[in-house]
Amino acid sequence: MKIALLAGDGIGPEIVAQAERVLHHFKQEGLKIELESGLLGGCAVDAAGEPFPESTRRLAIEADAILLGAVGGTQYDNLPREKRPEQGLLAIRKELNLFANLRPVVLYPQLANASTLKPEIVTGLDILIVRELTGDIYFGRPRGIEYRDGEKVGFNTMIYSESEIRRIAHVAFQAASRRNGRLCSVDKMNVLECTQLWRDVVTETAQLYPNVKLSHMLVDNAAMQLVRNPKQFDVVVTGNMFGDILSDEASMLTGSIGMLPSASLDDKNKGLYEPIHGSAPDIAGKGIANPLATILSAAMMLRYSFNEEEVAARIEHAVQKTLEEGYRTADIYEDGTKKIGTTEMGDRVLTNLQLQ
Ligand code: NAD
Repeated sequence: MKIALLAGDGIGPEIVAQAERVLHHFKQEGLKIELESGLLGGCAVDAAGEPFPESTRRLAIEADAILLGAVGGTQYDNLPREKRPEQGLLAIRKELNLFANLRPVVLYPQLANASTLKPEIVTGLDILIVRELTGDIYFGRPRGIEYRDGEKVGFNTMIYSESEIRRIAHVAFQAASRRNGRLCSVDKMNVLECTQLWRDVVTETAQLYPNVKLSHMLVDNAAMQLVRNPKQFDVVVTGNMFGDILSDEASMLTGSIGMLPSASLDDKNKGLYEPIHGSAPDIAGKGIANPLATILSAAMMLRYSFNEEEVAARIEHAVQKTLEEGYRTADIYEDGTKKIGTTEMGDRVLTNLQLQ
């Protein structure tokens, strides 16, 4: 199993280093993995003049999975758009056809006070949002701004083909089968024909998954239900734009950006795994960034790309145990807990893995 490590910019190298230590631990235990580092984002612009250089493209294509830190930094903000670090991220997603974005939203009981919602609403929260990532209004054509009848008009095209809907529906049904067997598909079929087709295809696909209970919800109601009673959801599947908005809303239910991993998968479960946060330039180099979202991203990689469910669960338990012991990085610190830095958080997770 070949893993490409793309640490990126800002806190990226600090947090990926901790996930790398966790992967090394399993390598020593006998897991057959090979790690190779590459450049993506601002560091690649500095070294090679491009945010997604050819050498990284080759590495990404050869690898079975990719672990990414984060890209971006204020020093790159004035570069032409195609040279900016974030273009590297868009380019690698497109190159690898990563159409399925999986974002688990889990609130560890120890962090219930970090949420802006009342603890009883979010304690025990465990949702998986499955967002289609390469279609919809973000890519649809025609698009643009032009003059019509003497004034400017802006327009985009919301478009999904049956096959695009079907392939993301399969990902979501399979995920629901592995979890609690409930899938909620979110659309706006009362107004948008495109999402009527979405609902029809998801309903048709459900026949292949009799063990999963499918429900449908309109996106405006889903936005409301996510803050009213988020624990009613198990797996949520939706299109690119609705998923963009709902997954950010859902991630903030946990209140801790440094804790949440994500996966972006192609149709063969090759994936790019990354924390949901950015490169945090404000704290880069200080040794205080939370590495847990990246370590949990490595766990997702082992689960989804390599089918190593047991190893993934061991990592998640080690993270949970570390939180139970009261260790916190600054972003999740509260009175009565023990504040530690990035490397020490890595140490604690490793110790708990060794004790298992
Ligand atoms: P950000 O997520 O980097 O930071 C937001 C806030 O959260 C900051 O105060 C930061 O210190 C804190 N934070 C983030 N991750 C943390 C962690 N692991 N531990 C502790 N605190 C953490 O968002 P931003 O400030 O809007 O963006 C900074 C840069 O990151 C920009 O260049 C942006 O384009 C880029 N970005 C990249 C990605 C990505 O690589 N996938 C995603 C979002 C933003």
